[in-house]
Amino acid sequence: MSSRSYTGRHYAGRHRVQRRARTPRALSPGFVLPTVAAAGLVVTATGASMAESATTQPFELTSSQSAMVRTQQAADVETGAELANRRQDASIQSAALQGRTEAKVRAARAAERRAAQVAKAKAEAEKQAKKWVRPIGVWNITSGYGWRWGKNHDGIDLGAPTGTPLSAMSKGTVIGAGWHDSFGYKVEIKYWDGSISWYGHMSRIDVTEGQEVMPGDRVGLVGNTGHSFGSHLHLEFQRTTASDTPLDPVPWLKDHGLW
Ligand SMILES: [Zn+2]
Repeated sequence: MSSRSYTGRHYAGRHRVQRRARTPRALSPGFVLPTVAAAGLVVTATGASMAESATTQPFELTSSQSAMVRTQQAADVETGAELANRRQDASIQSAALQGRTEAKVRAARAAERRAAQVAKAKAEAEKQAKKWVRPIGVWNITSGYGWRWGKNHDGIDLGAPTGTPLSAMSKGTVIGAGWHDSFGYKVEIKYWDGSISWYGHMSRIDVTEGQEVMPGDRVGLVGNTGHSFGSHLHLEFQRTTASDTPLDPVPWLKDHGLW
């Protein structure tokens, strides 16, 4: 068979090496591939082929050679498949490992952020709890601390209508809430810094002894009860709970940013 007579069919369908059931013509005993067809082509007994380095010379495959090629190809395919599988497995494991590591890092960062938020909220809450506020919205001093009517006036008087709300000045505990002959309805609060305030002449008490209070919490209302002439708050500060040891309210209020 001449290359000329083969060329038509060869290029039409067989050169590109489709798998064919029947033995290709190229493997028939004594068949010589045309030069152009042989270039870059290895044909196996089953008709499969693979690109190889081009040769410009015609060649012939014996049955043992094609068997070797087939065996080698099969081995290569198997090895390649195993390698691909192993690579895929390793890739999956690596991805899973990396995924777990990233998840751990994300979780740790999220935990840090939450902890920081909690700490910040706690610090802010503490700051709010420890702030100081005036006990009454109206600040109308009608009588100061000091000598008055032949005796010491132990606090300051703040004139306000009966029913005006009275607030706790900071975070603290109610250490006294009830009637007193001179002070009328009276509330005593010990604050977080040890300070003690007395509110006197109240018309109503809204807290009980032992109750925890926060700055601005309502503890009762202004009144005119006890030894009082006109509705007002008597505000007094004490050094200790043990005895009646009044402090000058002005320096205390200045120290607490309320004057
Ligand atoms: Zn007073």
